[in-house]
Amino acid sequence: MDRSVAREARALAAAARGWLEELAEEGVEALPLPEATQSPAPAEATQSPAPAEASEAAVKAPRGRTPREEPETPSPERPSPPEPEAQQPLVESEAWAAGTTLDDVRATLGDCTRCRLHEGRSNLVFGDGNPEADLMFVGEGPGEQEDRRGLPFVGRAGELLTQMIEKGLGIPRSDVYICNVVKCRPPANRTPLADEVSTCSPFLDGQIAAVKPRVIVALGKPAASLLLGRDVAITRVRGTWHDYKGIPLMPTLHPAYILRQYTAENRRRVWEDLKAALARASDG
Ligand code: URA
Repeated sequence: MDRSVAREARALAAAARGWLEELAEEGVEALPLPEATQSPAPAEATQSPAPAEASEAAVKAPRGRTPREEPETPSPERPSPPEPEAQQPLVESEAWAAGTTLDDVRATLGDCTRCRLHEGRSNLVFGDGNPEADLMFVGEGPGEQEDRRGLPFVGRAGELLTQMIEKGLGIPRSDVYICNVVKCRPPANRTPLADEVSTCSPFLDGQIAAVKPRVIVALGKPAASLLLGRDVAITRVRGTWHDYKGIPLMPTLHPAYILRQYTAENRRRVWEDLKAALARASDG
């Protein structure tokens, strides 16, 4: 098989696996097969409908990869991700000198073509907000609106995040700093692949080194997994304090997940997490 076809197939398989794992984390155990591919059902099976819970959840489940939500970072059991097509030298996190500014990081990032995500972008989405913020939010990657406007969190999930910051925490969005794990929109909003994350993560490190926030809030699984250095289930780690290079880290649910699972319980969880993050960032 042609190498690029094989690479694309591996990428699609990893994305599909991530989506299925994500659905499993949300309690969806089975997806209905398309009719054409269903094998003839045994007589008794045609009389007993599929479990209501599973089919209802499958109907509600996102189509394609929406997940700017509870996205998955490929786990070690998954097939190796496609090889990075590095065209520009990678930047080692350790290379960010004391005194690095956001402008330095942005300049080093340049018109980035280090991974395949640059191919589909309209705009690179670097970050937005106060370069000296006490509170920094890290999401997964730009969606459609963000790609169009070149700013993070300006779509529906962004509106919710902005409301949580401004109405919930009572501070202007411009007081915090907001950025993402990857700076270019993944195709069809799929979860960024491991090599895309590792290629882009030095720039997130640079942003953290430049802003020096008092607290980082990781929004959703990919941001939490990257900053914790291991594959985590966001529903398990959220609401608990961690550490990223000496900076207190609070993982919480991604706003897009809240939009999709709009329950009082989820809103309460995020609210608790954000209040704790603001209290710690304002401490002393
Ligand atoms: N979701 C993200 O994770 N980041 C954005 O910038 C927008 C949506």
